[in-house]
Amino acid sequence: MVDRAKLRQALAQFLGDERFRKLLHQRGPGGRLRHWQEQEWARFTALHPQFGVSMEELLVALRICEVHGDELLVDTVDVCRGCTDRGKWYTQVRKRLFPHAGSGLVADDALQEGVQLEVSYCPACRKAEKEWQAKSVRLTFLRHDEEIDFVPLLKSGSIHYVSVAMPGFTVVSANIMFASGFDHMHRNDFMIAVNHGRETGTLYPKVNITLLPSPSASYGGMDSNIYNEGDYSEEQVVAHILDAFKANSQHVKSPKMYFDFRNLCVSETHYVSSLRAAMDQITLEELPHEVVTFEVELYPTRRKVRG
Ligand SMILES: [Zn+2]
Repeated sequence: MVDRAKLRQALAQFLGDERFRKLLHQRGPGGRLRHWQEQEWARFTALHPQFGVSMEELLVALRICEVHGDELLVDTVDVCRGCTDRGKWYTQVRKRLFPHAGSGLVADDALQEGVQLEVSYCPACRKAEKEWQAKSVRLTFLRHDEEIDFVPLLKSGSIHYVSVAMPGFTVVSANIMFASGFDHMHRNDFMIAVNHGRETGTLYPKVNITLLPSPSASYGGMDSNIYNEGDYSEEQVVAHILDAFKANSQHVKSPKMYFDFRNLCVSETHYVSSLRAAMDQITLEELPHEVVTFEVELYPTRRKVRG
């Protein structure tokens, strides 16, 4: 019996990374090898006769998860009733994090509820899906126009408020001044430090407010530098948000974090999807019990009623 992991390793070495990936994922109809793939396979087995397995066995060896590299296993799952309308963003998440969870078969025109179907799955994908779901239930979307008086919540220390360092008549400016007692000068000093540093900064322990740098803040003529051309990239925003989570798990330790990106001259959809991406990158232990933000078009369906 050939060691399938060793076979894959030798074949990958023989083909090079890119062609090996094409062999895994760009197969002919019915998962069969394409002509060039058959030729490569013949060349490979001529060089390495010890790996000359049957075509059937080769196809089994090549059925691996493109994310985790694990071999796909077979399972039977129930088709259940549910809602399939989870949106494009969910399809992207699944593709990126758990493409072979082999779960969530939902009754529709082609599939009947109660029927059992055979699926192939990757154990690591199933684990990743479970973890993603556990994180998702901690994320709450409020209505975009929800008015919350953050000042008493901040004064009592019961929440950790995260926003963007945008001065002027913004909610975040008011929260800083009324919850911490800062005047305009102190508030601006803090925001300027965050924006010039292009890094997340926190007012903890004075008050549980953490600010992400603004790409385009100006301060009424005192300092009107443009710090970044357009929004920061998703990678940068994710890094800024991860710093806010780190400040919370290591220092603030608040069970509830608000991420308020409303009306701050940044793309709210961009920031909310970066928030979700940041949550994908940290462990459950690093996440507060509840993460609250405000709905944007991309994520309209996961709203929960506050009780
Ligand atoms: Zn996987």
